[in-house]
Amino acid sequence: MAARMPVVFVSHGSPDALLNAHDAVACWGEIGRALPEPTAILAVSAHWEARSPTASLAGAPATIHDFYGFPQALYRMRYPAPGAPALAERAVALLADAGIAAGLHPDRGLDHGAWVPLSAMFPDADVPVTQLSLQHDGGPAAHLAFGRALAPLRDEGVLIVASGAITHNFDWIDRVAGPETTPLPEAARFADWVGECLIAQDIDGLAGYRREPGGAKAHPSEEHFLPLFAAVGAAGDDVPRRLRPNFAYRGLAMDAYVWAAA
Ligand code: ZN
Repeated sequence: MAARMPVVFVSHGSPDALLNAHDAVACWGEIGRALPEPTAILAVSAHWEARSPTASLAGAPATIHDFYGFPQALYRMRYPAPGAPALAERAVALLADAGIAAGLHPDRGLDHGAWVPLSAMFPDADVPVTQLSLQHDGGPAAHLAFGRALAPLRDEGVLIVASGAITHNFDWIDRVAGPETTPLPEAARFADWVGECLIAQDIDGLAGYRREPGGAKAHPSEEHFLPLFAAVGAAGDDVPRRLRPNFAYRGLAMDAYVWAAA
């Protein structure tokens, strides 16, 4: 049997991360090179929400350019990885076994939450990928359960890549700030608090983040934080390593976490 795969969470940042978040892109590349070769990737991105978790049967997932007003170079980028329809069916079956109603989508492609970090992690685009949606209005508890249900995939050579944000408040973003700018203190504080919870495995504390100082401000809407809970659920008892590339646009923490099997 294959060794248990790690679980990865990345903050995907702004859609133009591949053009200017050099430190984060280098970090994603290092994560990819350090991983065992996966048989397939299950990507859980903040940019796909459905009434119930939904996995894509796409055989050749399209690269979805789900953003507006960015440089043309981004719209020319493609991530031509093959799809992983068998993995989509397996993920839905595991969710159903855990009592979580889940569905399949015939051909949904990869949104930028998935293809942007994967372009750096697996630049050859040779590992099959399917995307699994979030559960709209599910909240942290539902996404922890969703991640736990998917944990057996780790023993099947599947890499779970959850892609969201540690901080995601557009009012905190400074579009003229360069990549070396000092981070916004509120954003840095919240990112550190998240890191402390994760390293201490205080998952109940993390799930109550909206009651923490700055928690609700860091995430005016919840969807960018939920992939983290899916990753934590899939990680089980494994303790993560925190990777801390420079903030993007001063307010977007670009932290990544890798949970390797103990
Ligand atoms: Zn996003």
